[in-house]
Amino acid sequence: MTEIQMPKELIYSPNLCGGKWQDGSGKTIDVDSPYFGKKIGEIKCSTEDDINKIIKSASEAQVSWAQKPMKERAQVLFNFRNILLERIDEIAHIVSLENGKTLGESRAGIMKGVEVLEFALSLQNLDSGSKMEVSRGVFCEYRRKAIGVVLSITPFNFPAMVPMWTIPVSIALGNAYVWKPSEKTPLTPKWIAQAFMDAGLPEGVLSIAHGEKETVEYAIDHPGIKAVAFVGSSPVAKAVYTRATALGKRALCLGGAKNHIVLLPDADPHITGNGISNSFTGCAGQRCMAASVLLAVGDVDLHIEKIKEAAQTTPCGNAMGAIITKAQLEFLNKAIEQAEKDGAKIILDGRNPEVSGEYKDGYWLGPTIIDHVKPGTQAATEELFGPVISIIRCKSISEAMKIENENAYGNACSVFTSSGPLAEKVLSSASAGMLGVNIGVPVPREPFSFGGINISKFGHGDITGVGSLDFWSDQIKVTTKWEKQDDENWMS
Ligand code: NAD
Repeated sequence: MTEIQMPKELIYSPNLCGGKWQDGSGKTIDVDSPYFGKKIGEIKCSTEDDINKIIKSASEAQVSWAQKPMKERAQVLFNFRNILLERIDEIAHIVSLENGKTLGESRAGIMKGVEVLEFALSLQNLDSGSKMEVSRGVFCEYRRKAIGVVLSITPFNFPAMVPMWTIPVSIALGNAYVWKPSEKTPLTPKWIAQAFMDAGLPEGVLSIAHGEKETVEYAIDHPGIKAVAFVGSSPVAKAVYTRATALGKRALCLGGAKNHIVLLPDADPHITGNGISNSFTGCAGQRCMAASVLLAVGDVDLHIEKIKEAAQTTPCGNAMGAIITKAQLEFLNKAIEQAEKDGAKIILDGRNPEVSGEYKDGYWLGPTIIDHVKPGTQAATEELFGPVISIIRCKSISEAMKIENENAYGNACSVFTSSGPLAEKVLSSASAGMLGVNIGVPVPREPFSFGGINISKFGHGDITGVGSLDFWSDQIKVTTKWEKQDDENWMS
């Protein structure tokens, strides 16, 4: 029996406004399952009027939510964590069904979200501020204050994990959260929001506004929105950042990626094969930390053979997930064709894989390795977002790092080597926010923050970890004096 089951009836995912499930008043969008290539659900987009209602109810709810002590707010997160862990198979199935991940990948993404949730839970013990007597009888203290109503726009590729980077910390700090999920994966948000309400989250603290560009723009422009977080592709990240900051709003917008792995001849062959293969085939390459370019320095043919062997053991279906849409699959197939026209050699061709049974109409591309890619061509520079790796042959580390530095993105870069000094050479010259040594997907674990540089991020600070606290709150400085003083000083 197949792991992912086609639902018996269509799944409807309405907006969530003031704790009530209500359809948006705009156009209808169909939701397809990448596994089956068939419609599984529907959403209705939010109009300006829907957005006004959602933000009004969120603003009202935020006032009393922010007045609760942090420990009471954290209790709701704690309850939510229990629900999530008890019912992880249920939510993992929804994620896989609408996104195309394998069930194992969906569970892993949710568990990464749980790490951020646990970080948010720790705030009740760690974020107690600080207070000091700065002058006789005069005290200064820091207090953290919620910003108000925040807007978060999330991508399709991690329907549960990416929202869980931001919901826990922002609501733990007393904000109300308006969520505009990807229209391609809008079913998981319904599950998450219902679980939050079951956990005791007051109505209106978490809202959902489905839609596309127009919905996002209404929400950014609404004066009730005080901060905007975005995760998605770079052109949209830039547009959202520009729009929000032009209105004087705080914004942090994470964009796309073109991640490089620098492979040196002295790398340990026991880890290069699986390590690099998993990096570009995991989640069918649809993750912003996936390896996309392999900078092969010197004679590394043995390692490349091992990567190919490992990738060949990842057939589509239960071992590797599907591509999000038919259009994206066509784009990937064309990009592979273009790489061949640009003079590269396909040494592992994943096009038109054999997938039989229930998944036969899904959107499939097997692992694809393109060797001898020329710098400057599409396969070398563009984010493809599929299980495809482009190998660029380099004579030296300097040549490899020049190519890495010239790429516009800056999420991740890893080096595979058994030499500390050579690893350090790569680490110190890479132009990316998250670096790794002998790790294919160098995602920092909590409490280390997640975030890239260059066009992989617009705005300052990071979206998770300690760095995110200053994004989701204001730091207020309070100076108090209660005692009457006999002598004079400058603060009298
Ligand atoms: P996307 O940019 O197409 O969409 C992201 C969100 O923006 C969705 O909710 C979508 O509805 C909305 N949107 C789309 N066009 C818009 C517009 N013109 N104006 C306003 N909103 C708009 O991204 P996607 O295809 O859903 O996700 C894949 C992309 O996300 C990849 O580029 C990937 O690298 C990136 N990503 C980055 C990170 C990171 O941490 N840097 C994490 C996950 C995904």
